[in-house]
Amino acid sequence: MKREGKDRKKGYFNQEKETRDPEKRKESLEKSLKAIIKHGYKNSKAIKTILDKAGATPDDINTLEDLEKLPITNKADLLDCQKREFPFGGFEAVPLEEIRRIYVSPGFIYEPGEMEYKDTRLAEALFASGFRKGDIIVNTFNYHLWPFSFMLDESLKMIGCTVVPTGPGNTHMQVTIIQHLKANGFIGTPSFLMTISERAEGMGIDLKKDFPLETAFVSAEMLPESLRKRLEEKTGITISQAYATVDLGCIGYECPNKNGLHIPEDVIVEIINPDTGKKVESGAVGEVVVTTFNKTFPLIRFGTGDLSSFMKEKCECGRTSLKLLKILGRTDQATKIRGTFVHPWQTDELMGKFHEVYKYQMVVTRKEHKDEITFFVELKEELVDKVRLKAQIEKMIKEMLNLRGKVEIVPKGYIPEWHKKIEDKRSWE
Ligand SMILES: [Zn+2]
Repeated sequence: MKREGKDRKKGYFNQEKETRDPEKRKESLEKSLKAIIKHGYKNSKAIKTILDKAGATPDDINTLEDLEKLPITNKADLLDCQKREFPFGGFEAVPLEEIRRIYVSPGFIYEPGEMEYKDTRLAEALFASGFRKGDIIVNTFNYHLWPFSFMLDESLKMIGCTVVPTGPGNTHMQVTIIQHLKANGFIGTPSFLMTISERAEGMGIDLKKDFPLETAFVSAEMLPESLRKRLEEKTGITISQAYATVDLGCIGYECPNKNGLHIPEDVIVEIINPDTGKKVESGAVGEVVVTTFNKTFPLIRFGTGDLSSFMKEKCECGRTSLKLLKILGRTDQATKIRGTFVHPWQTDELMGKFHEVYKYQMVVTRKEHKDEITFFVELKEELVDKVRLKAQIEKMIKEMLNLRGKVEIVPKGYIPEWHKKIEDKRSWE
């Protein structure tokens, strides 16, 4: 049975901050910026190098505009630094004994986790999505390797929610747990919410009457409006999405108006022209670049590779923060598939393991709201045992990309001469 009686659309996690005058917000961000630059310069080798190379000292960075004096750092830079200096590439800004966990992202990127999690950005987002004190939430994101579930867990505690750490998979078990515990909140990917709902229906549960979920907070995948509409109509669950990355935490979230992504408090988000590193004109599309105030792992002007733009309209929800339009694409060829980024260098590394392969292309499609990947492979010689090779590559895809993918062996000339290594053929509406 659905629980009733909570107004999930009203209120704020931190009303004073979320509704303050934008000028006041700017002042507070600049204060935090100065502090983190000073801290990073003193304690993080990588941040010091970034400033030194730009010919800047901490005294040169006082305003949001001053950030343009510093270059953009991205994931490839982070990986480069880490290859030279394990494990964090000098980005850590506290001694090892103050690091609680070491998180690992695909491609072996290591990230130090803070001893005490105090960041309230996700709590703001979860509150805006409708989670309230006393709710029981199933968190279906992974609790291993990545920090996201720990961040969500800590943030739900800040609101006063009770978490059931179910992790992904085990659909039948998830439905049973939701029923037994009368869990009224879901956290996970939109496609997994779809899978769970379909399974519950298959088990004879009337989704609108007898399934306790009321609120869902989804992330890590695109949420096309068509999928949201279908899911909301089918289940009666209110679905909100957030934009977050493993290294940067929450960058944007939906309020009950569900148009655009509010930028949470205590983070600096810029939209820049990736070619010049300068801000784009107001409303124009560019790369989302983020500066966090994480004292353990400060990231200054970190380029996400995602494209978006700022919205000009004020939001009726009362929050005065800027809003990002949805994510419009990527600056590089990296593609997010079932919540995981796949970069061309990863697929090269994968296929490089098979000397029989002459050429390949990975194609991403979408069937019934689920991502599917197919590797089209041309061989150097026709004589190899194709069935065996196909099985070996499929096994390696699972191991190296942590995704299930099909392999199709095609005749020479099938893959166009000028081809993208990763071809995204999904449509989002
Ligand atoms: Zn709003």
